Amino acid sequence: MTGAASNVHFPHRHLLGIEGLSPDEITVLLDRSESYVEQNRQSDKKKSLLRGRTIINLFIEASTRTRTSFELAGKRLGGDVINISIATSAIKKGETLIDTAMTLNAMHPDVLVVRHPHSGAVKLLSEKVNCAVINGGDGSHEHPTQALLDALTIRHRTGRLSGLVVAICGDITHSRVARSNIHLLTTMGARVRLIAPRTLVPSDAERLGVTVFHDMKAGLADCDIVMMLRLQTERMHRNYFPSIREYFRFFGLTYDKLSVAKPDALVMHPGPMNRGVEIDSEVADDIGRSAIREQVEMGVAVRMACLELLTRNLPEPPPEVH
Ligand code: ASP
Repeated sequence: MTGAASNVHFPHRHLLGIEGLSPDEITVLLDRSESYVEQNRQSDKKKSLLRGRTIINLFIEASTRTRTSFELAGKRLGGDVINISIATSAIKKGETLIDTAMTLNAMHPDVLVVRHPHSGAVKLLSEKVNCAVINGGDGSHEHPTQALLDALTIRHRTGRLSGLVVAICGDITHSRVARSNIHLLTTMGARVRLIAPRTLVPSDAERLGVTVFHDMKAGLADCDIVMMLRLQTERMHRNYFPSIREYFRFFGLTYDKLSVAKPDALVMHPGPMNRGVEIDSEVADDIGRSAIREQVEMGVAVRMACLELLTRNLPEPPPEVH
């Protein structure tokens, strides 16, 4: 099913986070994404669903996967896509985020995809514009499309989310990927474990319905999915661990640590990956165990579904007067 499915509805104007979405709303997004996985494997990948629509990617923080896949997603649906990065935006000349947003808003975009280093900045912006806004990652708060693509990858490989034991390992404190995944996975009935040094996990994390471990082998025992996270050094303002070498020794994913998980446990990483820091190269490149490339593929499908479902909710422009 790759045509417009008119009975599919996502009842929100923006996609700012996973927190607060219901299991049905998440399922609608995942099911619609699924239909695009097949389409993206065909030689003719182009549809005209977003013909006439304008999507602006406003990225005030570095990105490879998220920005490129939103661009591809918009183009594959027939929309016009424009990319603005920190290097090319007037924010560098001192303009505020809101002024930049108001300027872009005046050009009548249909969707703004925004990445910003500050938690909450994307929500603030969404309150000032007329178009749909998608959070492409705000500080250490949320990265909803990453959690959706992770869920789609897991569903593809295992056929389900409910009942799985998922270990999220590494720098939890600074990770928006961890936060969005915790919300999504617990909402969908998975059991989430966090594995991290004491300094890199919030002390009240268990109120999110997860179990916290500080030892890799204890946390990985019998789990179905192992999600590794990068150390988000750009958000660290003090020392959280003695050295990279020591971090890798205790928290880097190696075959030895992975051996206590289920024999077919899937290894995931949102990228960018720091080999030899949070993950050993051998494990990362093991095509039997690692779903890291598949996550990137699912990312395009998820972003197509998000663009489609949010633009469907936009009001029709008033008819032209001749
Ligand atoms: N790409 C992900 C993010 O933007 C993860 C990372 O940067 O480590 O949050």
